[in-house]
Amino acid sequence: MGIEMRLEVKVSHGLHYQGDAMAVPLFQRARNRGYHGLDKATEGEWKGPFCFIQGADTQYGMIADFFTEKADTGWQEEIELTRKAIAAANKMTPRPKFFIVCGDLVNSFPGTEGREEQEKDLKREFMDLDSEIPLVCVCGNHDLGNTPTRQTVANYVDKFGDDYFSFWVGGVKFIVLNSQFYEDPSQVMELKEKQDQWLDEQLAGAQTSGCKHLVIFQHIPWFLEDPNEGKDYFNIEKELRLKMLEKFKSAGVRTIFCGHYHRNAGGFYGDMEEVVTSAMGCPLGEAKSGLRVVRILDNSITHDYYAMDDIPERVTLSNPSL
Ligand SMILES: [Zn+2]
Repeated sequence: MGIEMRLEVKVSHGLHYQGDAMAVPLFQRARNRGYHGLDKATEGEWKGPFCFIQGADTQYGMIADFFTEKADTGWQEEIELTRKAIAAANKMTPRPKFFIVCGDLVNSFPGTEGREEQEKDLKREFMDLDSEIPLVCVCGNHDLGNTPTRQTVANYVDKFGDDYFSFWVGGVKFIVLNSQFYEDPSQVMELKEKQDQWLDEQLAGAQTSGCKHLVIFQHIPWFLEDPNEGKDYFNIEKELRLKMLEKFKSAGVRTIFCGHYHRNAGGFYGDMEEVVTSAMGCPLGEAKSGLRVVRILDNSITHDYYAMDDIPERVTLSNPSL
């Protein structure tokens, strides 16, 4: 009887969680501008510090493309790097509350050779992520094309979920943006305006939502080192950048996490931090392929980048200001 009861409790608890998480396929959870199971009703309350993993630019196919200029040599290296990242995430204590990949999931642009195979392989690898660590995807320029069209956006949404949405984890509000709308919206002005309007509503609502922190994720960084730097390939045009940074700061955004640069970088706009994270796939700077562990603390957000072989098994959630 005792054993039966225990089993029943265990099974029903398991079913409750698994049922909820498994009901929606892994890459279909970002829908209706939210993320399945990570809403304010279930995750709106602050229950203390936690950690999550932020990676960027898995970009299956770039290593071969960049170093050999032959796209047909495959992406086995990227696959091995993903496996290391997933193994480390699955072993981490405390368990990361989610794993987010900030864009350029694969290298081949929409409709080009290798794209479907790269997507298929990436999705297969992430199936090994612990089912209790939600995977959150952000779209990058390689995912949508440098000049997105309605079709490339629709294809991405179909394959990976919404291109922009918000979600809640442990009392913190997270906003995921489609940064391609800031880079080149020329073919999708209508979609860009919809995101603008939605974002304004999200930011206005955040101030009265009671969120502990407000955090943004996007692919292309607003700036690399200095909010006043000039435009180059890896950042957003200055006038729009300064307007948006001011908007985020006024709304109380604490941190903006990005990728795209394939190097670690970032800086501050007032007391708002922008963090640029190097690649899970092909690095272009000194840092080796890796990911960032982010700690959400009472009064601060701290983070460290680790090469895939150096990711810690234990994360200390202490507040340096205490
Ligand atoms: Zn990119």
